[in-house]
Amino acid sequence: MHTSALVLFSGGQDSTTCLAHALARYERVETLAFDYGQRHKVELDARLNVLAAVQSRFPAWADKMGEDHLLDAGILGQISETSLTRDTAIAMESSGLPNTFVPGRNLLFLTLAAALAYRRGLQVIVTGVCETDFSGYPDCRDDTMKAMQVALSLGMDRKLLIETPLMWIDKAQTWQLAYDLGQRADASGGGQALVDLVVEHSHTCYLGERTQRHAWGYGCGQCPACQLRAAGFERYQKA
Ligand code: ZN
Repeated sequence: MHTSALVLFSGGQDSTTCLAHALARYERVETLAFDYGQRHKVELDARLNVLAAVQSRFPAWADKMGEDHLLDAGILGQISETSLTRDTAIAMESSGLPNTFVPGRNLLFLTLAAALAYRRGLQVIVTGVCETDFSGYPDCRDDTMKAMQVALSLGMDRKLLIETPLMWIDKAQTWQLAYDLGQRADASGGGQALVDLVVEHSHTCYLGERTQRHAWGYGCGQCPACQLRAAGFERYQKA
């Protein structure tokens, strides 16, 4: 019986929904993010704002929220040249992958997360990877996750579950999932309270823009991350 989880929590829409998923399911939930010289500290601020908002608006979940961890993964900056860590524009490479791709990043993150989960006695790792709105990241594939689950469980000699609640749903369904989880949390405002929280506090924009407020939240509205989030929100509202 799994009772505790570690959520890979960046403060974006996806990982905020994953946090709610874990809080709805497990008794003790800890959160983890990596600092690897992201261009925008706004992401790291957003995650603290999300955590504070969840704690104040969802009392049933607040009691389950344990330690929040921030690990330095700055070593990624030494070995990668991508538009998320350097000042280059977001574009597609000849490989067909966007230049936001950091080779092996998720593999490293999952390994670090598993080591932390081991030390903290947490049984499940929850991550918001997704094949549906696929950016082409091979380390977000379901097969990669399953292989990592086996490798980490064997290598640490402890059964570890990697849970990916968003793997097969699109961005519109991710908004719907937030609504449903919020509804089940029995907070005042119901499902809409969690959707509002995601809109207001989570951060997705690659450019770190938080001055323009749209119906779907803050962002430049132009970058691929904003466009995906905006299009998903629009489809969600029409459904
Ligand atoms: Zn943007």
